[in-house]
Amino acid sequence: SSFGFRDVDAKEKVRMVRGVFDSVASNYDLMNDLMSAGVHRLWKDAAAAKLNPRPGETILDVAGGTGDMARRYSKMARGAQVRMGGEDASVIVLDYNAEMIMAGVDKGGEPEMSWTVGDAMALPIPDASVDAYSISFGIRNVADVSQALREARRVLKPGGRFLCLEFSRPTAGPIRKAYDAWSFHAIPRIGEWVAKDRDSYQYLVESIRRFPDQATFKRMIEDVGFSRVTVTNLSGGVAAIHHGWAI
Ligand code: SAM
Repeated sequence: SSFGFRDVDAKEKVRMVRGVFDSVASNYDLMNDLMSAGVHRLWKDAAAAKLNPRPGETILDVAGGTGDMARRYSKMARGAQVRMGGEDASVIVLDYNAEMIMAGVDKGGEPEMSWTVGDAMALPIPDASVDAYSISFGIRNVADVSQALREARRVLKPGGRFLCLEFSRPTAGPIRKAYDAWSFHAIPRIGEWVAKDRDSYQYLVESIRRFPDQATFKRMIEDVGFSRVTVTNLSGGVAAIHHGWAI
């Protein structure tokens, strides 16, 4: 890859990622808490506010897992609907792991939500059919990131919004040091104790390291045709929101 982060063969990556999520689907919330020291809830709130779901919109949440983002979008669209009227929103959760979807259905949905099994790299969604596309802590696991971005561009209507929430690069030295210690030493150990699965957690940490930094990922998003792409760092760049427009 021209970005130099795809040092794992694509097929191998798919196999490893499926293994990771099959083995942790039931421990899923715990995993998120461990990876982010519990802060992922606040990051998700910030990302949902940035997406700004409106009544009547079709919102697609790709790699949606157990529906954390989709629940937020549903409630926000409904809140806006109460204030300003309009149609019900439709929030589609798409994930290629049926176990994650099933765990999400068990957790309970909102009336706006529907669940679909599908691949971010070949979305089972028509061209120019959604108002907003989001992917939260999912794109770094996709074997071909640019292909997922092209699919996002394809399914968005003109004027539609793209939003990605993902682990990124801490911008300041001290945060980076603390974060490296946390991710390289603590997380695999905790993964071993809690989930009896050190390798999967080690893989998650490494996948964060391999993913492109804020500026590189922004260029990739622009390269597939998104406009006015912005980056919002969260917790000093431990995570970042990339937002852009399909124009
Ligand atoms: N978006 C949720 C959240 O923020 O809580 C779930 C994030 S979870 C860390 C990553 C999800 O990406 C998993 O549910 C996994 O099955 C899904 N995933 C990975 N690669 C995918 C792909 N190519 N297409 C669809 N889903 C994928």
